Amino acid sequence: MGKITQLDELLSNKIAAGEVVERPASVVKELVENAIDADSTRIEVELEEGGLHLIRVLDNGSGIEPDDCELAFSRHATSKIKQEQDLYQIRTMGFRGEALPSIASVSEVHMTSSTGDGAGVSLIIKSGLITEKKPAKSRRGTDFIVRNLFFNTPARLKHMKTIQTEMAHTADIMNRFALAYPSVSFRLKHNGREILHTTGNGNLLQVIAAVYGMQTAKQMIPVSLKSLDYEVTGYVAKPEVNRASRSYMSLFMNGRYIRSYGVNKALQAAYHTLLPIGRFPVCVLSITMDPVLIDVNVHPSKQEARLSKEAELAALIETGIKKALQSSSLIPDADALQ
Ligand code: ADP
Ligand code: MG
Repeated sequence: MGKITQLDELLSNKIAAGEVVERPASVVKELVENAIDADSTRIEVELEEGGLHLIRVLDNGSGIEPDDCELAFSRHATSKIKQEQDLYQIRTMGFRGEALPSIASVSEVHMTSSTGDGAGVSLIIKSGLITEKKPAKSRRGTDFIVRNLFFNTPARLKHMKTIQTEMAHTADIMNRFALAYPSVSFRLKHNGREILHTTGNGNLLQVIAAVYGMQTAKQMIPVSLKSLDYEVTGYVAKPEVNRASRSYMSLFMNGRYIRSYGVNKALQAAYHTLLPIGRFPVCVLSITMDPVLIDVNVHPSKQEARLSKEAELAALIETGIKKALQSSSLIPDADALQ
């Protein structure tokens, strides 16, 4: 008699949740990604007690078909990819079909969703088990409420930091969504107080002002670069607006916030000698490429990526941004001096 057993779905969801749902901010990230994938133009996020008491994400996107609502909470259930080759050309934020079952396994979820034509559905799920399902009147979109996160995983709950720290993580993630999607209106509230609001009018500089303040926004230089495989647009700050941390360098690759050592290095090289040691630029750059060139299936959080032509992108960014900084006449132009 062998010793190996196949774990049941509830247990394997809880194990996956260990990686996917690290803290309240990870729930916000997954739910907002789903709202973006549903083509929402307005996304409202509300938290209570740093998100441990309540996280609500309300969107005006496509909604979930009543027949799909239960399936959406089972593992590896997704509307975003169908076959293996889709994995090599991801055009959506999600594709793993892991977020909803993971979140629902470590909290109490109340979801109402409607595609706008006909009745919507309302579901209650506790520790991954559906306890209530009924038709519900609602406008097009999805209203997702997560209560008592980690109530059934005390070890994880114990590791939560202060409410302020947890909120700082959520605010950071929301700021990046707002910077990556200036055409979507985002609102973030904590305990009833508004922390971020963007209009969704498509003006990135206005979003930069909402996130980093007007003073910083006034010091930004527009960037628009193109190589064979990459397009880079956005803003970089004049060198005098430097910061003590790298976290003000936002790189979005095909709409996804990515931490890239190689591209960060190229960015810093573009500012070479303009910044004191230990200081970093403020930049918001959207990089678009054929999805075949980027592999985001590196980590469940999808904040890392492997680029097949990283050297080309690094060179484009280093030379292009150096030039942009020069032409804003901050660096004496070598040619002009001769
Ligand atoms: P993934 O995003 O990787 O597909 P999720 O577990 O996050 O997996 O979501 C499962 C499915 O539920 C999605 O593929 C999508 O079809 C649906 N879904 C989830 N959230 C929303 C939403 N806010 N609006 C519309 N559909 C949604
Ligand atoms: Mg998802």
